[in-house]
Amino acid sequence: MDACVLDAHRMTSAPPPRKSPRMIIAVDGPTASGKGTLSRRIGARYGLAVLDTGAIYRAVGLAVLDAGADPSDDAAAAAAAAALDLAAIDDVRIRADRVGQAASIVAAKPAVRARLLEAQRAFARRPGGAVLDGRDIATVVCPDADVKLFVTAALAERAARRHAELAGRGESVTLADVAAQIEARDARDANRPVAPLRQAPDAHLLDTTGLPIEEAAARAFAIIDAVLGRP
Ligand code: C5P
Repeated sequence: MDACVLDAHRMTSAPPPRKSPRMIIAVDGPTASGKGTLSRRIGARYGLAVLDTGAIYRAVGLAVLDAGADPSDDAAAAAAAAALDLAAIDDVRIRADRVGQAASIVAAKPAVRARLLEAQRAFARRPGGAVLDGRDIATVVCPDADVKLFVTAALAERAARRHAELAGRGESVTLADVAAQIEARDARDANRPVAPLRQAPDAHLLDTTGLPIEEAAARAFAIIDAVLGRP
């Protein structure tokens, strides 16, 4: 995958980069924790481009499914990562639940992660900096990030959020099934040997359970401002 293509592609919807200094904000957390929404709010507030790294893994998962292959097939997953069409990041089909599951399976493969790593780092190195959200941003992709947030929420609340999101897109799935799938995905993401989901020792925990998005964003901004020494 060409890092420049990813960079140019994401800039079509990102705010103009800040001139200096470069600031990198890493936002990690489990499925449906609210990290994506928070990252977009953070990007807007601090004038930073935002990369949803989960979308890249989802695009690989979708490519494998579209090829009629099994996401657990090492060769098929590696080939899909190598040939990734970055336009797929904005394909609404990557948001489907089955694609999220496929993403989590291909994301456990070292060859897939290795193939996608440099593009994410190149995006982070952009002038002015960036916000990246995912599972391993603070631990692997950008261990030197200026601010690291680990966003989480209770399983029941994450399941309710994801269920509402899927229902809004017309996917018919029960709340219990969504909760079970989130648990399975969390377990796979946290227990894989390569780049597992975990809070970096220097990351700030933000639990969004029971918080409206405005309040969660206000808490994120307060953490970031404190780390950056801003009033
Ligand atoms: O964040 P999202 O749920 O869209 O991510 C889909 C999947 O991609 C996750 O379940 C995880 O397995 C994988 N992922 C990852 N590393 C990242 C971002 C996402 O392994 N940095």
